[in-house]
Amino acid sequence: MIMFLIICGFLFIFINLMLRLIGHLLVDQQHINNKPSQEQDIVDVMMECPTCHVYFPKKHAVAYKGKLFCCSQHASVC
Ligand SMILES: [Zn+2]
Repeated sequence: MIMFLIICGFLFIFINLMLRLIGHLLVDQQHINNKPSQEQDIVDVMMECPTCHVYFPKKHAVAYKGKLFCCSQHASVC
């Protein structure tokens, strides 16, 4: 009977530790998944078009005469 209680105690402790470990792993996985999107937000720099004054991402800019425009139509108007 005493052996049965000791084995049950060890099983309880073991299961508790495993659940905590799985919980930590899930939290770490969410942390890793969130990281790239936050870095992506920081990399996108917003620029103002001199023609229409609309803000647009710098990576989509059209360069013309040393200025950055939102599209090629607005670059040709200037
Ligand atoms: Zn524009």
